[in-house]
Amino acid sequence: MIEGMAGVRKRWSGAAALSGAAVFFALAADPSPPAPQPLGEGAWWIPGGFLPKRQPDGNTVVLQGPEGLVVLDTGRHAWHRQAILDLARARGAPVAAIVNSHWHLDHVSGNPALKAAFPKATVYASGAIDGALEGFLRSSAEGARKFLATPGLAPETAEDIRGDLASVANGRALRPDVVIGANATMRLAGRPIAVHLSRDGPTAGDVWLVDPALGLAAVGDLVTLPVPFLDTACVDGWRAALAEVEATPFETLVPGHGRPMSRAEFKLYRRAFDAFVACAASDAAPATCATGWTRDAAPLLAANGQDAKRAEAMATYYVRDVLRHGKGDSPHCRH
Ligand SMILES: [Zn+2]
Repeated sequence: MIEGMAGVRKRWSGAAALSGAAVFFALAADPSPPAPQPLGEGAWWIPGGFLPKRQPDGNTVVLQGPEGLVVLDTGRHAWHRQAILDLARARGAPVAAIVNSHWHLDHVSGNPALKAAFPKATVYASGAIDGALEGFLRSSAEGARKFLATPGLAPETAEDIRGDLASVANGRALRPDVVIGANATMRLAGRPIAVHLSRDGPTAGDVWLVDPALGLAAVGDLVTLPVPFLDTACVDGWRAALAEVEATPFETLVPGHGRPMSRAEFKLYRRAFDAFVACAASDAAPATCATGWTRDAAPLLAANGQDAKRAEAMATYYVRDVLRHGKGDSPHCRH
């Protein structure tokens, strides 16, 4: 969810209807930057969010090395990237490396501002954003421009959509300096990190990191709550990537959206994911698959304080309007 601005239309319409008169209120002050949470020595989680009438921010993970900070994902909103800049200032360390787990706008939109603050920072990502700028993001932008004309659109929603359109218009600034083309152990900011590339999962190229010293995996949108965000997904590649994650020796895993998980919680997520996509590929009613998801993932939804009814509605959408429109994958799956 998402940066699929056109695809999100239905959900936003529903949200606007539910929030009623709230759409007439003026914009409130921007939310405060999220507070970094320590994950171990020299490691922090900056929580992403999903505020009412707003598009989401993905999680950020920051790792400190001898040469500065490694930042995995830069969020969408100004207040999210401000939290990253504030942490860099508090640590007295430059941002030396930015890694994008994938090209969705809730994970890359902060790149230009971080580069402006730290011009020597190197951006690492898969090359998948090039295809996205020519395809998914371009067509989403067309839908978003039309959506902006919706009568009664919440000003916060309109502001987010205008921000996304500006990010796409300046899409070259989101591209990596160094393309990750294969699994490798790299020194980022002088810190040894196992860099993994999974092809044809949530996007055509998803990068995820394992810090061996901390037993920490940061996997971007291979793991998301309240549901797997299947907007641009290839299901088989995603399943294979989750198997590869499970085979790595992590103790704590930071998902793309939601709180850090234990290994046992990740295994539960993986089982629920496999059952959900198997149901989507069967003849079962979309609502049946969605109920299965909220049942299987119930402990994770509870741990994140997430509403099962909302998760169920989103899960139904992903079966009915995404996977079953693409013969089992998202219609935007690119092999
Ligand atoms: Zn995301």
